[in-house]
Amino acid sequence: MAKSIAIFNQKGGVGKTTTNINLCTYLATWGKKVLTIDIDPQGNTTSGIGMDKKNINLSVYDVIIGGVSPDEAILHTPIKNLDIIPSTVQLAGAEIELTEVNQREVKLKEAIKSLDDRYDFIFIDCPPSLGLLTINALAAVDSVIIPIQCEFYALEGVGQLIRTIQLVKKGLNPALEIEGVILCMYDGRTNLSTAVVDEVKNFFKGKVYTTMIPRNIKLAESPSFGQPIMIYDPKCRGAEAYEDLAKEFIKNHMKNRKEVI
Ligand code: ADP
Ligand code: MG
Repeated sequence: MAKSIAIFNQKGGVGKTTTNINLCTYLATWGKKVLTIDIDPQGNTTSGIGMDKKNINLSVYDVIIGGVSPDEAILHTPIKNLDIIPSTVQLAGAEIELTEVNQREVKLKEAIKSLDDRYDFIFIDCPPSLGLLTINALAAVDSVIIPIQCEFYALEGVGQLIRTIQLVKKGLNPALEIEGVILCMYDGRTNLSTAVVDEVKNFFKGKVYTTMIPRNIKLAESPSFGQPIMIYDPKCRGAEAYEDLAKEFIKNHMKNRKEVI
């Protein structure tokens, strides 16, 4: 049985895609069979992981809207053990097209059911919105990882994020859990970052990962080369942090924590 996780925060630019790419890469490199599904029309996971968008025939759009089997849309990435259902800009229309569709919230869930025994982990990179694509992701997964940017307005929007999770739990996916909260773009030199860390830990209690992701220029550069940080600069601080995070994720997974939100 695959464990499925959505990387979720309706704010843009908080580190969702960076976390998704690099968490997937480390887990795959350690021999786990990993699938990532890019449901952001911007397709940053798709390009950041090294896929050439010119060579994509079928995407997650065709799976969600077109009824295409996920098998047909799955591609191997340049990283061993890591597959992707890519996104293309076509997905931008999906939010509107979905409103016309029956069972529109569970299209992704239905589509990926058949993949359960093929992967250890399925990670879904969400778009920066609370629209139907995000709801499809939340309905389809076992848990969510929430990246939070260490900035002044860090907790702004978190109330709405929690309400969305609760709404999905009530109706579409009662078993949905918060897997963990990741503090991203941390700058230990500023009092602000330290204050944000305290605030977030206080809010999410035991859910915050011990590993924090520092602000690191190499992490910002690597997507333009289509390379996960492990390939772009495996020794930099950003790489070390994501490697530590992946270890912490696995450790928690093994413990199989069953905490309610
Ligand atoms: P999201 O998917 O939530 O929109 P991204 O992961 O794309 O966020 O990150 C937003 C921007 O910040 C990107 O340009 C990314 O390369 C950069 N970035 C992400 N994490 C870090 C980090 N720890 N240090 C420096 N830059 C980062
Ligand atoms: Mg993103």
